Amino acid sequence: MEADLPIIGVLDLQGAVQEHVRVLERLGVPVRRVRLSEEIEQVDGLIIPGGESTTVGKLLERRGMDVTIRRRCEEGMAVFGTCMGLIMLAQRIEGSDQQRLGLMDIGVRRNAFGRQVDSFEADLTIPALGSEPVPAVFIRAPIVTDVGADVEVIAEWDGVPVAVRQGRCLGAAFHPELTDDTRFHAMFVAMAGEERNAKG
Ligand code: GLN
Repeated sequence: MEADLPIIGVLDLQGAVQEHVRVLERLGVPVRRVRLSEEIEQVDGLIIPGGESTTVGKLLERRGMDVTIRRRCEEGMAVFGTCMGLIMLAQRIEGSDQQRLGLMDIGVRRNAFGRQVDSFEADLTIPALGSEPVPAVFIRAPIVTDVGADVEVIAEWDGVPVAVRQGRCLGAAFHPELTDDTRFHAMFVAMAGEERNAKG
């Protein structure tokens, strides 16, 4: 029943693409790898995986994909950014004028946990996903430094926001695609499904 499910694209320019594809396949959702602007027209939701935000920002601009993503979002497409993807979604990036999509009213600080703590795992309490803690893997992760009035903080670690939602945009500083817990992706698929159903 592929027609009833939202089609989810995974931005395939750099980074942890295959891991997201695998989680979506486990959920039984139709997946497309997105490398070109035209391919963004065909998806109801787009995942921007982890990677290097300065590189991906430049690639998006060079391919005209930044403009297409912003327009598709206005039309109702859902977007989910993990780690570097969260940085791309932010309107404000501390100390940097690097390219970004700027779709969420948040500020971020890159590599916020410092060199001492390159990567770590933590169990997060995310009420929106139920009472069972969500395992989270942080890799040179950003943190959210400030949020606008329309932004909902859905997870914190040590008092700092690490997952946020605004309209159909979802961002996580960590990597839900690197664990067996599919709840975060399921939440995003539901958000993208709202768009598909609204279109009728
Ligand atoms: N540190 C990277 C950046 O700032 C993000 C790291 C990641 O996505 N795992 O672009």
